[in-house]
Amino acid sequence: MAKLCPICAKPLDLKNSGAGESAPFCSRRCADVDLHRWLSESYAIPVVEHEDEDGDNPALASPPSPGRKADPALH
Ligand SMILES: [Zn+2]
Repeated sequence: MAKLCPICAKPLDLKNSGAGESAPFCSRRCADVDLHRWLSESYAIPVVEHEDEDGDNPALASPPSPGRKADPALH
């Protein structure tokens, strides 16, 4: 079952033309077109992410003392 290039809708021929490099596109050119679309979209949409905000929580960094139950008062 042939896949279609999402850019130009041509059937992908993975056996020819080294299309595997630009998969899932039929060619490097179509891959570039898609990339430009993504870039222009990402410029238009403000993306606010806080990925590293709570990566290191000091409260969780120190391991609990062995043999001691967690004290709710410390929470
Ligand atoms: Zn294409």
